[in-house]
Amino acid sequence: MSEQSFLGQVHRAFDAASTFTNHPPALLNQIKECNAVYRVTFPILRDDGTIKTIVGWRAEHSHHKLPTKGGIRYAISVNEDEVMALASLMTFKCAVVDVPFGGAKGGIKINRKEFSEAELERITRRYTFELWKKNFIGPGVDVPAPDYGTSSKEMAWIADTYAQLAVGDLNAMACVTAKPIAQGGIRGRTEATGRGVYFGVREACDNVADMRALGLTPGLEGKRVIVQGLGNVGYHAAKFLSEGGGVLVAVAEADGALHNDRGLDLDAIMAHRREHGTLKGFPGATYLADSRAALELPCEILVPAALEGQITAENAPRIQAKIVAEGANGPTTFEADGILHQRGVMVLADMFLNAGGVTVSYFEWLKNLSHVRFGRMEKRFEETAFKNVLRAVEDLTGKTLGEERMAQLSHGADEQDLVNSGLEDTMISAWHQVRETWMQHGQKTDIRTAAFISAINKVAVSYQDLGIFP
Ligand code: NAD
Repeated sequence: MSEQSFLGQVHRAFDAASTFTNHPPALLNQIKECNAVYRVTFPILRDDGTIKTIVGWRAEHSHHKLPTKGGIRYAISVNEDEVMALASLMTFKCAVVDVPFGGAKGGIKINRKEFSEAELERITRRYTFELWKKNFIGPGVDVPAPDYGTSSKEMAWIADTYAQLAVGDLNAMACVTAKPIAQGGIRGRTEATGRGVYFGVREACDNVADMRALGLTPGLEGKRVIVQGLGNVGYHAAKFLSEGGGVLVAVAEADGALHNDRGLDLDAIMAHRREHGTLKGFPGATYLADSRAALELPCEILVPAALEGQITAENAPRIQAKIVAEGANGPTTFEADGILHQRGVMVLADMFLNAGGVTVSYFEWLKNLSHVRFGRMEKRFEETAFKNVLRAVEDLTGKTLGEERMAQLSHGADEQDLVNSGLEDTMISAWHQVRETWMQHGQKTDIRTAAFISAINKVAVSYQDLGIFP
């Protein structure tokens, strides 16, 4: 395995973090290695009557907790090394945010733009069938979700295919997450990763000492933000960071970038891209044909949210951001990480920062297993109780709140409220756990290493509890 491979990068980061733990080599090796990989090829009938052979993978990195969990990626760049690397990151990500799953990842090597919707449905359903045949999918086995190039639509096809196969399985809908709401999905999952990125960045920016070390004032307010990738993660991260006080000064897509130091109108950009299929020609911003150049523009916060390997030893010395907030998985190479660390840049590592998606997927899985929408039992009860208390306050003070204020203050939590609150709490607690480990190891570690140390220690406990390893 080449040191430059994505899996090689993940292993180097793992090895670097391992030196800060006291676990025996055999245990560390067990934690590091991928437990199972399934490679599959199958034929699909194209709309023009020809047959195309499709290749796909599913890697289950760690069975220390079941089910395993991780997205499915549709991209021409997908390969076994990448799927295994992403599966490995999922194990540690789940541990960082205390989600009780092992890590997994799947991928199909296709450029989805070359296939019709009907063809994509056939590919997705056949892939699901192949996973089912080898016991690589199921509510207690392995639960996929979307990733680069897939969305809730593919998840609906997966859930439907699985339900046809797992006849009578009451929990069949829990075989995949990020489904449409009507198919057992949960409110707030679509935007969860981007919202989690926002919560993580906001929490990190609120620490006065950490911001002072970067030469910044605390808080998000006025900080210039650059986002690479305007897909699910990038768009939502850009939206929530802007709403939280950040100023979106540049966005980079595959076909070019837009820059305006006074700020960009995200929704207008999305509308322009929908209409014209490109960022080019958007009024009120400078268009850069070299999309990657946007990563090097002046800003405080850079959010790579497209693909891995975007910040390398080549461009890391020119990155001007003080904070790199990893929305994507593996956007910073091992060498680049070292350069950024030396230059005093704070890298909010993927393993922590983009864990919002899997966190809300965990909530969706729990909802599917309990067969009841969060908030359904208690919402009205809470509202009535809050109203009773507020009316007592009105009686005691002789003042009235008015209908609107009363409705606002007595609102009982619904599913979306509970999901957002659970996500916010998870991201905040995870940040403080990671930061504590970071502080314990002082200057010797960066945030990624600290997240790895914390995750390795948690996974190690699962194996130690089995009595196999000392
Ligand atoms: P997506 O397919 O919705 O969006 C990806 C976007 O990146 C697309 O708009 C694409 O055009 C753009 N892009 C592709 N190449 C680019 C380039 N060279 N420069 C700039 N933009 C480019 O995918 P997503 O779900 O948003 O995933 C993005 C990243 O976030 C991936 O690394 C994925 O593994 C990671 N991630 C996703 C989730 C999730 O819940 N979807 C969760 C955690 C991590």
